[in-house]
Amino acid sequence: MRLNVEAAVVGRELVLGDVEVVDGRIARVGVRGSNGRGVAAPGFVDLQVNGFGGVDFAGADAAAYDRAGDALLETGVTAYLPTLITAPEDALVSALAALPERARGPRILGAHVEGPFLASTRMGTHSLAWRADPDVALLERLLAAGRVRLVTLAPELPGALELIDVLRARGVAVSCGHTDATAEEAEAAFDRGAQAVTHLFNAMRPFRHRDPGIAGAALARDDVVVQMILDGHHVAPETALIVWRAAAGRVALVTDAIAGAGQGDGRYTLGSVSVEVRDGRARNDDEVLAGSVLTMLDAVRNLHALGVPLVDAVDAASAVPARVIGADVGRLAVGSRADVVVLDDNLAIARVLVGGEALVAA
Ligand code: ZN
Repeated sequence: MRLNVEAAVVGRELVLGDVEVVDGRIARVGVRGSNGRGVAAPGFVDLQVNGFGGVDFAGADAAAYDRAGDALLETGVTAYLPTLITAPEDALVSALAALPERARGPRILGAHVEGPFLASTRMGTHSLAWRADPDVALLERLLAAGRVRLVTLAPELPGALELIDVLRARGVAVSCGHTDATAEEAEAAFDRGAQAVTHLFNAMRPFRHRDPGIAGAALARDDVVVQMILDGHHVAPETALIVWRAAAGRVALVTDAIAGAGQGDGRYTLGSVSVEVRDGRARNDDEVLAGSVLTMLDAVRNLHALGVPLVDAVDAASAVPARVIGADVGRLAVGSRADVVVLDDNLAIARVLVGGEALVAA
């Protein structure tokens, strides 16, 4: 089957020509002689999705995952990590147990557990009541409850480095977030195996010239992926550009989307937190940002609008996040899975394929 496109994003290059798919995988790129339209890009991979399309993953059943999957797919996401924020242990355990192996739409790569081992001073919208100090036994119970693929923790907490050891030994990726870590504390965590930083600059010790904190440490190293919520509210455009100039090729776009994403203004829940979405901003009752209603497609457009080439913006939404968790997705190359987003000339979605199967067609 040919995709009938005029070009494809292969790695960080635009390769002219059509794409051929055989048995759910990319068989050829740069196929000449067709008059296709649009650009085929690797399907987007979102590491941080609390909910979508009216569904909050903290309390979702299989049917709800199907609905969220349908809505996510329309935004170009072909693989994602349902994300669970800090909550009582029994709530986390049952949400992890409810994580389906498969659902309609995008691939569910496992859960991102954001918390509960977070800094009490950097909770953002997470509930302080359910925060916990690093506790290997609690971590083990969470890991036993379901498919955990990524954990966000505050590395400066006593015992956090031991948690990193446990997680890395199990093949679970570690990202540092909701943290007051100094640069030195952050370096220790990165050296120990933490691969990423969760929503850079948000819920984090601020960057200062003599106290660069974890944000400065992450930007200064070339082996750490920085995740960024590029919705126009979480970071200023200048900040995003500085991040890009320091970390191009290791910036992962994430949405941090909540149930209100793809729905419009209104009241939604994020775990036990009540969130109001107004004018495209999600806030809790204390007016603290509580996730976003960003779509990954808009994150890509926003990064591109800052002057970043489209191929690089797509890379930040696909290969880079996939690398954090070591998942075999997020690439469009001969032999890779045919998880593909076809974008038209206006960067709107024309088609989305998962495993070579067209699931969204404009
Ligand atoms: Zn967060």
